[in-house]
Amino acid sequence: MHECASAPVTITRIIDETPCIKTFEFSRAFTFRPGQFVMVWVPGVDEIPMALSSPWSISVQKVGDATAALFACDEGDMLGIKGPLGTGFSVGGRTLAVAGGIGAAPLRHLAIEGSVDTFLLGARTAAELPFAHEIARMTDIVVATDDGSIGHHGFVTDLCAEIDLTSYDHVCVCGPEVMMRAVLGLLDEAGCAGRGQFSLHRYMKCGVGICGSCCIDPSGLCVCRDGPVFSGDLLLGSEFGRYSRDASGRKKGL
Ligand SMILES: Cc1cc2nc3c(=O)[nH]c(=O)nc-3n(C[C@H](O)[C@H](O)[C@H](O)COP(=O)(O)OP(=O)(O)OC[C@H]3O[C@@H](n4cnc5c(N)ncnc54)[C@H](O)[C@@H]3O)c2cc1C
Repeated sequence: MHECASAPVTITRIIDETPCIKTFEFSRAFTFRPGQFVMVWVPGVDEIPMALSSPWSISVQKVGDATAALFACDEGDMLGIKGPLGTGFSVGGRTLAVAGGIGAAPLRHLAIEGSVDTFLLGARTAAELPFAHEIARMTDIVVATDDGSIGHHGFVTDLCAEIDLTSYDHVCVCGPEVMMRAVLGLLDEAGCAGRGQFSLHRYMKCGVGICGSCCIDPSGLCVCRDGPVFSGDLLLGSEFGRYSRDASGRKKGL
């Protein structure tokens, strides 16, 4: 059941995770399933979708106006939180988490609650790996960096290619779509695309399945209404990882 009204919360703590990612803890805890998101009203600026990174926090990468306004907030400032909304990850049995950069935000709490057996985490550099120390306290973690500054020198998808994906009941994935598409390809090759659960963080406007900005061709599934977490077999044969749509609805390559 979705909560429709925006709840006012106070920012109680701001944590610098990496040079570009901050976690904002707030005064209220929400009951949620990791993967679900909230609409965050940044007063006077915009309302934007953000995954909950814990019952009382969001973890944000600065990319544009609203996220820059969040970065300018101080402890004690107010935000509006609507939700939790959408589908979350379903786990039980052996679970592999695969995250790229800020994609670790919705997967972080899965590890904290003890639901992840192996966590593969990638980022461009060691300094840009979010939550690595925290996750390492909870589960087995293997890291990859594009520049080789820590862990495997290369993409997190290289790590996926080296393990037996069929030994996991669930493979929960969040990161850039191109990376997620590569994971879906590996799962498909292993004959278990349906074990993949992919959290899509597409641009969305209305949030209720009308505007079409976050729809997936050719099924017409909407990230806001039907997601953001989708099973791999629903994404096979779609434009997932090839293009998405911008604010005007125009297709843009990923
Ligand atoms: C379900 C869901 C969960 C999300 N969870 C998180 C999270 O936990 N942490 C986080 O940092 N971000 C998350 N995002 C992405 C976040 O919503 C956008 O980064 C944010 O809306 C950008 O707002 P802005 O005003 O700062 O940037 P804008 O000025 O709107 O855009 C700046 C640039 O970012 C691009 N952009 C905007 N929104 C998105 C998007 N959704 N996906 C990809 N590119 C985008 C624009 O095309 C533009 O190039 C999530 C998105 C969704 C749909």
